[in-house]
Amino acid sequence: MWTVAAALSVAALLGAACGSSDDDEQQAATETTAANDSSAGANDATDATDAESDSAAAAAAESGADVTAEQMKAVIDGIDWPDNVEVTIGTDTWTFRSNGRPDHELPAQYLVPKPGVDARTATLDILQVSSTPDREVDVTYELPLAPKQNASATNLFGILGVIRSGGVVNDPYEADQKTIAVEATDLKIGDVTFIDSCSAHFNPMGYHYHGIPYCMTEVLDSPGQHSALRGFMVDGFPVYGPQGDDGAEETDLDECRGHFGPTPEFPDGIYHYHLTSTFPYTTLCLMGTPEDSSMQMPDMGGQTAP
Ligand SMILES: [Zn+2]
Ligand SMILES: [Zn+2]
Repeated sequence: MWTVAAALSVAALLGAACGSSDDDEQQAATETTAANDSSAGANDATDATDAESDSAAAAAAESGADVTAEQMKAVIDGIDWPDNVEVTIGTDTWTFRSNGRPDHELPAQYLVPKPGVDARTATLDILQVSSTPDREVDVTYELPLAPKQNASATNLFGILGVIRSGGVVNDPYEADQKTIAVEATDLKIGDVTFIDSCSAHFNPMGYHYHGIPYCMTEVLDSPGQHSALRGFMVDGFPVYGPQGDDGAEETDLDECRGHFGPTPEFPDGIYHYHLTSTFPYTTLCLMGTPEDSSMQMPDMGGQTAP
């Protein structure tokens, strides 16, 4: 069960993790980038060689060109979205809306916190077997069509992205900020598990993945090739399964588990994230600007009893 106390403790954690000096540094870094970006833009329009000497432009060239809204629209339009996902494409943004459920199969039961327990510590003694919930929740995210990378990462907890199945992707932790969901394989009663074979489970905000959605990976990915698109993080950049260009697990990733490079949907290259088989499995930060409504919500320790 998620409580106000849990929210407060996470707020405190966030506060503790983001000391004031770090905040100032990050703020300064962001402002510097914004200034450099606009000057690089002006240089691009007038004199390409000047832009090369601009450090921000050089860094941008190194990390690759930004994807355009037109390219992104074409990709989003081309995705075979399931019936439970409604996509609306606007001018600068697009909206992902789902019923908070995935279109793939689910187990009949999950381990969930017993009613009334403090679910911030996921241990076997507070869990019980429960039927898979059938309720729906409204999941709506408005994402940029032309996402931009920032100079520094933004740390986030809670929902970090939307997955094409209709579910969402969270950070690796449960509400206690200690239990790493996909590693909690000891949380099992009989055949009933805390996390399903798709590295996911329910909480009151819907179905959320904590790692590689293997049940989709097996269907969508081909040996020897870059993983297929899984969805989009709340900063607008796409997220993929673990496979890099040669089909092996991508290892050359930044602190947010992203990198610039070609993908099946963006052959000219785009900054994108990979879900990985090692910690943090998803990510704990984003390099773009998260959507305004993406609250820094804690995970809710599975779910309350349906
Ligand atoms: Zn990649
Ligand atoms: Zn969870």
